[in-house]
Amino acid sequence: MIPHSLTAENYFSAENNMKYMSCSQFKSFLTCEASALAELHGEYQREVTDALLVGSYVDAHFEGTLDIFRAQHPEIFTKSGELKAQYRQAEYMIQRAERDKLFMQYMSGEKQKIMVGEIAGIPFKIKIDSYHENNCIVDLKAIKDFKLIWNVEKGKKQHFINYWGYDIQGAIYREVVRQNTGKQLPFYISAITKEKEPDLDVLWVPDEDMDNALEEVISLAPRFQQLKDGLLQPQRCGDCGYCRFTKVLTEPRNYHEDCEVYEVEQQ
Ligand SMILES: [Zn+2]
Repeated sequence: MIPHSLTAENYFSAENNMKYMSCSQFKSFLTCEASALAELHGEYQREVTDALLVGSYVDAHFEGTLDIFRAQHPEIFTKSGELKAQYRQAEYMIQRAERDKLFMQYMSGEKQKIMVGEIAGIPFKIKIDSYHENNCIVDLKAIKDFKLIWNVEKGKKQHFINYWGYDIQGAIYREVVRQNTGKQLPFYISAITKEKEPDLDVLWVPDEDMDNALEEVISLAPRFQQLKDGLLQPQRCGDCGYCRFTKVLTEPRNYHEDCEVYEVEQQ
């Protein structure tokens, strides 16, 4: 094992986020460099939506840290101290998952296993939801549903695994585990939906997909590291909360500009 001083408590500290690239940080840079950098510098915080918190609630249950999560998030309770409807739904999702033998088998590995490694010479940290030493790497995802998602930028519908960059996450996990143990393990996603009647699945991400995703990490990580080191100017996506927050108007625009973009998107 490659030595490190990361713990559950300091994993997301500002210091360790600067010292190491993580999967979520890498994906933030992919989405909007300016926003990712502002977040790292503590200048901007992404909105924590109910949908995100429901996912965290389910995560906390499987981590065995639900008591701490409930204590840290009083907003999930009503004034009379009952769980709000969304979080009762999260409880229902957990119960549904617990009824499935295969789902639970994949979730039964070592919880929140932390490792560090290097990709393209850049230090990375990972935290695996369910690590089965010698067998496989499993990540838990609570998602809206299993429908394909329209990717405006790519102009096509995508599987949620590709849309949310979970293949990239798998590639980083697989590579860091390989550096630590010498073993290249398969990557699975235990997914449960937030639908009223939740759907669930255990999905395998083929190695070939992760080989391609790792190439993407290797090609982009150096640029993201240079941004962290302050050697490059970040690109703005122009669309996210941070870009809206920091937008400065310079002159009026012809509104047809937006329609043209819209027409291209529809083709
Ligand atoms: Zn942006």
